This record gives sequence, structure tokens and C-alpha cells, in this order.
Amino acid sequence: MAYDQTVTEVKPTVATQPLVPESGAADLAARLDAELRDAHPLTILRKAYETFGDQLALVSSFGAESAVLLHLASQVSTAIPVLFLDTGMLFGQTLDYRRQLAAKLGLTDVRDLRPAYTDLAVTDPKSDLWRTDTDACCHIRKVLPLDRALGEFAAWTTGRKRFHGGDRLRLRVVEEADGKIKFNPLANWGKAELEAYVAEHDLPAHPLVAQGFPSVGCWPCTKPVEDPNADVRAGRWAGQDKTECGIHVARAPGAAPNVGEGI
Ligand code: SF4
Repeated sequence: MAYDQTVTEVKPTVATQPLVPESGAADLAARLDAELRDAHPLTILRKAYETFGDQLALVSSFGAESAVLLHLASQVSTAIPVLFLDTGMLFGQTLDYRRQLAAKLGLTDVRDLRPAYTDLAVTDPKSDLWRTDTDACCHIRKVLPLDRALGEFAAWTTGRKRFHGGDRLRLRVVEEADGKIKFNPLANWGKAELEAYVAEHDLPAHPLVAQGFPSVGCWPCTKPVEDPNADVRAGRWAGQDKTECGIHVARAPGAAPNVGEGI
């Protein structure tokens, strides 16, 4: 079936001054959340783009559920910058999927974020840090590259959902994070809505889903899940007291980015 490439005409804001005054980010996030907390994901994305224009980015892992948010965003604008954390530890299937899905959806600005050479040389020269310190490994391969890339944006969008459990149970549709506005358009959606959207738009699945991976991250830290009733993210850092990579942990102003909590 052909993909729906219809792009709704949305007029974005052209930023001539900071869109989020540092002192007012929390208030702005609260106002947007009150307006959008029950809205359809497409409405949320349109509002985000109308408000922030070229200061809006979308962060995607091109993982098991990523096609839904990427397709929704492509209906607003195929030019929204998509930030993809290429940690150097991803499955080859994810890299293939990233290329195929971006091409199918007509995304014109997918940016591959890679760890800094100096961070790898100093902290993980043998690429085996994940064996002894997954927090430090996520810090140099995910948190720092994303922090650097987000510097030019006032707002960003994630694919997190409440049904994933853990801290995500309390997820707001719009929140403030480190002085930026963070949109979670799929916060309210469950598995049924995601599956219906995929079927309606005939979106391709990540190839590892058919091999038992309900969530896909880096190959050393992602396992297939046999129990159909297990949490979606049960295969991520399985057996460790760790459920997130750290990119969604708020940092105090001026503090070094956190280590410890994923896409
Ligand atoms: Fe390293 Fe694993 Fe984190 Fe990937 S998920 S950055 S391999 S610790």
C-alpha cells in the first residue's frame, strides 16, 4: 500500500527572539499542557510546530514503536529536524530501518548524533564500558550528544508513553526540562492505539519486533522478551537496576548532565 504523504500546511513560527524565556519555561509548559493534555497527537504536534517552528526538534530512536510518531510528524512537516542517537552500539537492523523509514516518510532532516571522539578515546577506548558501567556508557553515547544537539532548539518532542510504566506513568503531554519545552504527543496512547495507527497507515515494523524485541536499544543492553505480559521495556538493561538512559532526567542549571536514567 502506498504511504500517505499528505503534508498539512502548517505555518510555523519564525523565531526572531528566544521563544522560551528561561524564567518562564515552566509556566509556558504548564499552559500548553493544560491546553493539550487530552488532544490528539497530531493536534499536539501541529501546535508544537506552529509555536516553535525551526526551534522544534524531534528525538527518535527509530526503534520498535518509532514509526508512529515519525509518521504523525511527517503529516505536519517533513522538515522537522529528527535527532537520532547513533550510539555506535546499535543493531545493524536499526540502522537499516532508520534509512528505510526516513526515505519512506520523506523526512528531509534526520541528524545522526554520535558520541564525541574524545569522550570515547578517554572513557571507553575499548568500547566495553557497557560491561562495567552502563550509566557512564549511556552518558557519553546518549546524554552528551543529545545535550550538544539540543543547544540550538527551544523545544523537543519524544515518543514516550504512559503505558510503558515506571516513571512514565506520571508523564505529562507537555513538560519543562532544563529550560526547554518537551512535548510527549503519545503520552496518552496505549498499545491498541499504536497498533491501529500502524495498520491504518501500513507502517513498516522494525525488523527485530518479529524476533521478540518489544523495545529496541543498543545491542549489548537489549534482550528479546518471551513473556507477552511483561512490560514493553523489560528487555532493556534486563537484570540491572536501570530502566532509562538519562536523557530524560532534569539537570540543575549549570550542573554536569546526569548519568543514570532511555529513549
Ligand atoms: Fe552503552 Fe548500553 Fe547505554 Fe547503549 S544502552 S549507550 S551500549 S550502556
